[in-house]
Amino acid sequence: MMDTIFGKIARGEIPADIVYEDEDVVAFRDLHPQAPIHILVIPRKPIRTLNDLEAADAELVGRLFLAARKVAEREGIAAAGYRTVINCNAAAGQTVFHLHLHLLGGRPLRWPPG
Ligand code: 5GP
Repeated sequence: MMDTIFGKIARGEIPADIVYEDEDVVAFRDLHPQAPIHILVIPRKPIRTLNDLEAADAELVGRLFLAARKVAEREGIAAAGYRTVINCNAAAGQTVFHLHLHLLGGRPLRWPPG
């Protein structure tokens, strides 16, 4: 697949405010936060979209969510509540084609979103 800015962040080639990383997952603050806490959790593996997930990625997806949970706890928003969002393709607003989970919190979040 085409390289993306998130691939470069995952490989440490461009800077980001990284809040968590392990062998499979990297989490960093969004450049244009939509909430007081807005963190992107990505797999190091470059998967374009949710549509491109394969059965073999099942454990990796679990790791993404476990990382999100850990970051939410560290950021102090676990008890109050937070939202996780994965945008898939253009109609959902996906702009970076490297799978990523948005972790949003730190203020009351409206539902449904726009
Ligand atoms: P999407 O719209 O694809 O679901 O979300 C992409 C997100 O990546 C947006 O919220 C945008 O602000 C964020 N973003 C885009 N480029 C960069 C970057 O270079 N660094 C960081 N930290 N976030 C970025």
